[in-house]
Amino acid sequence: MTLPSSIIRLPERTAELAALLIAWSEINSGSGHRAGLDRMRDALRAAFSRIPGAQVADVTLGNDIAPALQIAMRPSAPTQILLSGHFDTVYPPDDPFQHCRWIDAIRLNGPGVADMKGGLVALLAALQAFEDTEHGGNLGWEVLLTPDEETGSRASAPLLADAARRAQFALVFEPARPNGDIVHSRKGTGTLVATCRGRAAHAAKVPNDGRNAIVALAEFLLGASRVPEEMPGVLLNVGNIRGGSPATNVVPDFAEAEIDLRITTVADREPLLARLEALAATINSRDGFKLELAGGFNRPPKECHPAEEKAFAEWQRAAGDIGVAPFSWVHAGGGSDGNLLSAAGLPNLDGVGPVGDHLHSGREIVDVPSIASRAQIAALWLYRKAIGDASPGR
Ligand SMILES: [Zn+2]
Repeated sequence: MTLPSSIIRLPERTAELAALLIAWSEINSGSGHRAGLDRMRDALRAAFSRIPGAQVADVTLGNDIAPALQIAMRPSAPTQILLSGHFDTVYPPDDPFQHCRWIDAIRLNGPGVADMKGGLVALLAALQAFEDTEHGGNLGWEVLLTPDEETGSRASAPLLADAARRAQFALVFEPARPNGDIVHSRKGTGTLVATCRGRAAHAAKVPNDGRNAIVALAEFLLGASRVPEEMPGVLLNVGNIRGGSPATNVVPDFAEAEIDLRITTVADREPLLARLEALAATINSRDGFKLELAGGFNRPPKECHPAEEKAFAEWQRAAGDIGVAPFSWVHAGGGSDGNLLSAAGLPNLDGVGPVGDHLHSGREIVDVPSIASRAQIAALWLYRKAIGDASPGR
């Protein structure tokens, strides 16, 4: 079949898209950097407003957080696709990593070039190319761009759940893996704070009625770190610990640690938490100790269902027709807003952005030509949905 020329010709825009990416990446929009997030949202609003017919609106999330940006097109069309992205990055304004530089003719190094300002450029380019096709108007879309993905999407989670109700399928523009693979499923993520209280006493008191909170917490943490051995697909990392005082001649009455939790299936959540509570109960059964667990899962796992299997087959077909080298999809240990959309019942393909590597580090890079080629896949997939060449995801 002949493909629409606006989609075929997307790679001709590579230099222009790279310039846009550099401009966006050099706006610092670290999570929590309100002024930078506002500047970035202004830049996005200006770019998306140029799509004829697009309805662009800021969405307030609360007083202490930058608004999200929502762009809607044909909201009453029978098929609705959500395109999800985030415009925050992990780099605060005082991070030394603020500028882009070319590694070679293809690879660009810079803050957020892959995660996910490159994804936002691809998202924009895909919609521009799709809107330039003669698609008949049966497909509407909504873009939701959020300011807090890198810190767990706490403020924007209700917004994502809301948007999930309006759509039949979603595309999440997180970066593709270095080898081109996209995301099949993602682990659910959570954080627990383990706080242990004991009893202070002079270290030299004999007999000693002190209760050493550090030692008790250490015992709990050793037990907790062995739980994944019994639960395949579960990851647990003790990330930090503090306690005691500068005076080593005092039995410390306080210690606290933060633990990163990851699960592959929703079914693992309750057994894992129950296992950790049981370990805490062992400590609590002793006189003078209180070990409490606070926190929990902020993103449930993103599991793969038949709607995603079908969409991935369509995605691969589109990629093949465009001439993108074959790629697969893989399980990812990190969470994304794809997890939240799945939890809200919206099937989605995640990792559909450009190819990137070394995310969340000063070595972050993007494969620049993949911005246009991944946008081509998305545009062709949308086009085929719109003309009824493939049915919606569910
Ligand atoms: Zn991201």
